[in-house]
Amino acid sequence: MDRRRIDLHTHSSVSDGTDSPSELMDKAVDAGLAVIALTDHDTFDGLAEAAAAAERSGITLLPGMEMSTHLHGASVHLLAYGMDTEDPALNAELQRIRVGREDRVGPVLERLSGLGMQISREQVEAQAGDASSIGRPHIADALVEAGLVADRAEAFDRWLHDGGPAHVERYTTELSAAIDLVHAAGGKAVIAHPWSRSSREVLPPKVLAALVADHRLDGLEVDHHDHDLQTRRELRALTEELQIIATGSSDYHGAGKLDHELGCFTTDPAMYERLLS
Ligand code: AMP
Ligand code: MN
Ligand code: MN
Ligand code: MN
Repeated sequence: MDRRRIDLHTHSSVSDGTDSPSELMDKAVDAGLAVIALTDHDTFDGLAEAAAAAERSGITLLPGMEMSTHLHGASVHLLAYGMDTEDPALNAELQRIRVGREDRVGPVLERLSGLGMQISREQVEAQAGDASSIGRPHIADALVEAGLVADRAEAFDRWLHDGGPAHVERYTTELSAAIDLVHAAGGKAVIAHPWSRSSREVLPPKVLAALVADHRLDGLEVDHHDHDLQTRRELRALTEELQIIATGSSDYHGAGKLDHELGCFTTDPAMYERLLS
């Protein structure tokens, strides 16, 4: 029996995780993982460093990325695996998303200022370091550093959550267009935490079935911290019915997110093989 431990959803400091790609690979080995996917938000920039570190430490790296998409006004995250990271169309779209991330920082800081919390763009950029993908977690970190909240969780709960007092929309790709772009780049497309709070309403079974039928959606992330046991059961049954891949992963962000330790959820080796085929 194949007992490899496989974690297919993690973030480095190239997006909103706190470990560099190399540190992440070392921690993955320590956590007893045999396979890890690095899936930074809207960028491939961490993959080269991760690949070199993975090679040194003997862990298998699956190249990945978590793409910001939307459906009917709701945010949906799409995991892409095994794609050509040089694909021009996909890279142009990711660039557009990253510009949207940069452009959103100013308006969020204005909202925060209106709420009595002054932080500067420089303070946010200091937290983002050389991340390619700047995001709300970096704004949260700047609020922590300024002593205005205790941690990222409080920053999101009070101010930054979707629809929250300091939340500002940003550019994302329409979901089915994103699936098509990932496929055109030779990758597999798996919807991340589909029934988390933000996307559950817009992704009922019949919509997921249509994405499989019309866009050859490859899989769903079933085992994830955002899904309770009953949700995971229902989603797993749906993947069986639709004959698509079911994955399970940690969505590790280093110190940036509690309860997402490496390997806390893993993917069945048989499902991983399907992802590679
Ligand atoms: P953005 O990518 O800028 O839209 O911000 C969304 C990111 O914020 C997600 O990828 C999560 O990693 C992170 N996030 C959302 N809620 C929380 C929370 N309560 N605590 C820590 N991080 C969070
Ligand atoms: Mn994140
Ligand atoms: Mn996500
Ligand atoms: Mn993620």
